[in-house]
Amino acid sequence: MPLTAPTAPTAEPEHQQNTNDLPDATVAPLESHTNSSEDISPPLHRGARMIVLLSVVSPPLALIAAMWLAWGNGFSPIDLALFAGMYLLCGLGITVGLHRYFTHKSFDCPRWVKCGLGITASMSCQGDLFWWCAVHRQHHQHSDEEHDPHSPNIGSDSRIKRFLYSHFGWLFDIEQPDLERYVPDLISDKDLRFINRLFPLWVALGLAIPTVLGGVITGTWAGALTGLLWGGIIRIGLEHHVTWSVNSVCHIWGKQPYESRDHSRNNPIVGVLALGEGWHNNHHAFPTSARHGLAWWQFDATWVAIRLMSFVGMAKNIKTPTNERMDRSRKVASERS
Ligand SMILES: [Zn+2]
Ligand SMILES: [Zn+2]
Repeated sequence: MPLTAPTAPTAEPEHQQNTNDLPDATVAPLESHTNSSEDISPPLHRGARMIVLLSVVSPPLALIAAMWLAWGNGFSPIDLALFAGMYLLCGLGITVGLHRYFTHKSFDCPRWVKCGLGITASMSCQGDLFWWCAVHRQHHQHSDEEHDPHSPNIGSDSRIKRFLYSHFGWLFDIEQPDLERYVPDLISDKDLRFINRLFPLWVALGLAIPTVLGGVITGTWAGALTGLLWGGIIRIGLEHHVTWSVNSVCHIWGKQPYESRDHSRNNPIVGVLALGEGWHNNHHAFPTSARHGLAWWQFDATWVAIRLMSFVGMAKNIKTPTNERMDRSRKVASERS
């Protein structure tokens, strides 16, 4: 069956890579696809999806258990450090890796960085790499229109129902993105096929690291258990809700300074919690920009991380929109409102 190129993304971006404007790469080129169907077989994919669904249910239970364990003993600074460290490590895997690098190609990086990003992102348990990027490219292609996997702005249901569907209800939908259509460039990468195939292992690693650290640092089994709860399961649950809020909250509440032809918004609270991903109107207006917080006051932890990576040679050819393009987009948005 011939591959069909997805249509253009929601907004036509214009970027600078150092000083040169670059073509859009939100939906990557298709010609590099190779025969790799055995690596993305449906049974494995269903299994990966079951892990994600399990991760939706288990964090609230883990939170209850952790609170019961902490009762009367206080909250251990070790657990706090494990929670924060794993949140940052795995969260940046999602934002730097799955989103800005794999999905939007907003910078280039060496092979070992690419593999590291794929693994730390998978430790967030938000679905395997191919599925996550395919869903997100589909979202950009059909943002707030039919075939958007998780829009709170389509359908005739009540506003609360549409919100809940866009937040996590869509995960239970049986319709899945066409991986060969949306991520042929990723499927053609041997390293990424390997990482994608071992998704359950990376999830287990993301649980094992805080468990072992908690146990070794405290020298107790109780420390291992609370490390698992805070640095593993509860961290995964909070990360899920923050990521889902980009899909739900950031398509309902916030400002739209740029023209993006959809309902994407800049939401400062999600902006901070989601490590910069909440500047979502900026992102829809300039999908391939490595920087989402475009104003000086729009804190974008992921952009800080990418800049730091560039200083030590872990990222190069970083794309950002030109000032002219931003001015034009702002002007169109203000004329429309
Ligand atoms: Zn969006
Ligand atoms: Zn995106």
